[in-house]
Amino acid sequence: LYFKTLSAGILGVDGFLVEVETDITSGLPQYSLVGLPDSAVKESKERVRSAIRNSGFTFPLGRITINLAPADIRKVGPAFDLAVAVGILCASGQWHIQGLASILLIGELSLDGHIKPVQGLLPMALAAKERGCHSIIAAKENATEASLAGLNTYCLEHLRQLPSLLKEKPWIPDPFPSSDDKVNQLTSTFPAIIGQLNAKRALEIAAAGFHNILFIGPPGTGKTLLASCLPKILPPLSRPEWLEIVKIYSVAGKINLFPSSERPFRSPHHSITAAGLIGGGTYPKPGELTLAHRGALFLDEILEFPRQLLDLLRQPLEEHTIEIHRNRGKVVFPAHFMLIGSMNPCPCGYFGFEDNQHFCKCGSSTIEKYQRKLSGPLLDRFDIQVEVRRMEKSPYPQSQETGEEFNTMRHRIQNAVQMQQTRFNDPSFKNSEMSPEQIHAHCPMSPSANLMLQTAYEKFHISHRGYHRILKVARTIADLDGRESLSESDIAEAIQYRLPEKKISTIVHPCG
Ligand SMILES: [Zn+2]
Repeated sequence: LYFKTLSAGILGVDGFLVEVETDITSGLPQYSLVGLPDSAVKESKERVRSAIRNSGFTFPLGRITINLAPADIRKVGPAFDLAVAVGILCASGQWHIQGLASILLIGELSLDGHIKPVQGLLPMALAAKERGCHSIIAAKENATEASLAGLNTYCLEHLRQLPSLLKEKPWIPDPFPSSDDKVNQLTSTFPAIIGQLNAKRALEIAAAGFHNILFIGPPGTGKTLLASCLPKILPPLSRPEWLEIVKIYSVAGKINLFPSSERPFRSPHHSITAAGLIGGGTYPKPGELTLAHRGALFLDEILEFPRQLLDLLRQPLEEHTIEIHRNRGKVVFPAHFMLIGSMNPCPCGYFGFEDNQHFCKCGSSTIEKYQRKLSGPLLDRFDIQVEVRRMEKSPYPQSQETGEEFNTMRHRIQNAVQMQQTRFNDPSFKNSEMSPEQIHAHCPMSPSANLMLQTAYEKFHISHRGYHRILKVARTIADLDGRESLSESDIAEAIQYRLPEKKISTIVHPCG
């Protein structure tokens, strides 16, 4: 007897449908599972056998063959258990259930027949929806993800409940908080950052145009606190972006970390491994760069990260994806994030930032060695580099003004994002992504602005790439002000955000 059920697997952050074919013929008892299963899938044989028996049904005698199709993609993990068990119970004539051909069955079985949730359910459910499935049966813990894909969701606690489950009404999800609720909540949660007007301004520009930003300054100046404000001023996620991110968190098994419509903000420690950063493992899971997709990756004290790790950032910063190669082909993870870095100018932290109480004690070769870790090409990826200086203590108590300040900032950013959406006719495309052709087309300058840029280009020996980066940042500055044409002051401000680099490279390469 033959029966077919429907399940799904994961490749990268996308799901694919798997047909689970069960064939039972008479003969000596034998149970084989084919179709490129990994060890967890092979072990399903034992779980399924026990679960069927402990649910009060009979595990059939005879030759049982289970085929997972398509056969050329490796099947990973315990998510197929449920589809295999249902296939056996139907093929052996113990169950007669109509309509299973268009119902996705996802879940791990425990030996007593209970259903456990699986990782990556959302992409699986989305793949099923695309192929015309209308319903899914899964563990209660997976129900929210299943309903996000728009499938009728049936929550199953125990295998034995399945035949009666489909006669009931599907589960009704709780409504998700809308982005408006989120915006209102944010008002009170900004930390009080006193002064630092330059750094706040730079952060605003970075958020509006999705520019990478580097804070340079001595310890204790609030660089980390400034960076932590970023997710709150970034524009809210669009629905497609949000779904894209939930898929990633679903596959990574971190769905609980992503309940909101705020953009991701990841801040890995410098002791992280390469696999933790870019993703990896035998069956590759997304790393921090992918978890930061559509949001920000904050590398606090960026020079504490090993050079090899920093070099791994270069490809994703250009291409917005990460490729992980395995002997069974490659997996591509999305990784379009905004990079925020913070660094001390030297090991002691005070080089170039000396005041009455603090003096740099580092030798010039120590400083050089320290700064050389931030390689030229990576440093060059920061559109905005800004110095964060120590503030004098204010004698006046600070009120809630900071929250107000950030709220105004967020509205300006919203307007700038609106201008970019209209300009590029794409809800996600930002100024920082412009190609040289687009820069040429979308950065009209006043004659005085043009003159200033040409003068700076020659005077400061700005590279070609640097020239383009200045224009991208100036574009965002004008957008924040609601203007199409770039003015002299837009260009001047954008140039100022490249100059700390000049300072660094003068130390690293004293002659060039
Ligand atoms: Zn020093």
